[in-house]
Amino acid sequence: MREKIETLFTEIERLTANSLEEVEAIRIKYLSKKGIIATLMDEFRHVPADRKREVGMKMNALKQAATERLQQLKEQFAQNGTAQAGNDLSRTAYPVALGTRHPLSIVREEICDIFKRLGFTIAEGPEVEDDWHVFSSLNFADDHPARDMQDTFYLENGQLLKTHTSAAQNTIMRKYGPPKPGHALKALFPGRCFRNENIDASHENTFFQLEGMMIGENISISNLIYFMKVLLTEVFEREVKVRLRPGFFPFVEPGFELDINCVICGGEGCPTCKHSGWLELLPCGMIHPNVLSMGGIDPEKYTGFAFGLGLTRLAMMKYNIRDIRLFNSGNLKQLKQFTR
Ligand SMILES: [Zn+2]
Repeated sequence: MREKIETLFTEIERLTANSLEEVEAIRIKYLSKKGIIATLMDEFRHVPADRKREVGMKMNALKQAATERLQQLKEQFAQNGTAQAGNDLSRTAYPVALGTRHPLSIVREEICDIFKRLGFTIAEGPEVEDDWHVFSSLNFADDHPARDMQDTFYLENGQLLKTHTSAAQNTIMRKYGPPKPGHALKALFPGRCFRNENIDASHENTFFQLEGMMIGENISISNLIYFMKVLLTEVFEREVKVRLRPGFFPFVEPGFELDINCVICGGEGCPTCKHSGWLELLPCGMIHPNVLSMGGIDPEKYTGFAFGLGLTRLAMMKYNIRDIRLFNSGNLKQLKQFTR
């Protein structure tokens, strides 16, 4: 009988279960009224009197061990939904719930990677800025409507939340200075921007942009178009047609609106592109000479282009997201579906 008990101790220690049903089956097998331990208790009657004490203690210990082991198995299911193989130390103690990257982070990192390969420096500017960086250094006239309190969040100390990533242009020009002969200053600066918008399916007061800038001795519009085509082809994983329309922004001369061939209908016309076959994607242009001067770069010698990519809008197009509010919603169930 002593041997039987010892064997059962080992057996119980090694018990595993793959489901709660199996835990229950184990309970029935060992601890129910007709289970192994109860049967053993019956046999206890036949133990010689002088050994009853010793065997009795072992029996109790066995019952205790079985109860505890059962509880352990049960708890593993309660916490994690799966049981552990008793002695398999190579298995994780519990299933790790992995997080996923936010769709905006995925697109931002993807674009940063593309531009890093093209030799761009990734920079970032502060979110709280002053009027000089957000407007004046970008050639905005004092009475320009973009300065309006209705669009811009001003802080009590006179600073403001940046309304566009272009706010970092001046800082970057001053930090790196004019490029060496045969080189170009190439920088990409993603960032969060704020505008006092009424929120609906296509407007947010907090959104992401990604600004790119290239300055050198012979930079032209064709350089701009080349980089845009590389970018869009990689992001959408296919050839994307682009077109430029004139656009006016104080910090570029000439300025353009860059449209892409509608990625949803392929140019045939659909509600998203308002049946035009084109989607407006980003403003861009050749950096205004005044902006170069204010950045300490000689506009007689250097030219450059800049573009302000609406990262939030690009992510909406890439993933066919219809409602911009999803991005800041914290709705994990929805946000977790984007993996690449
Ligand atoms: Zn379309």
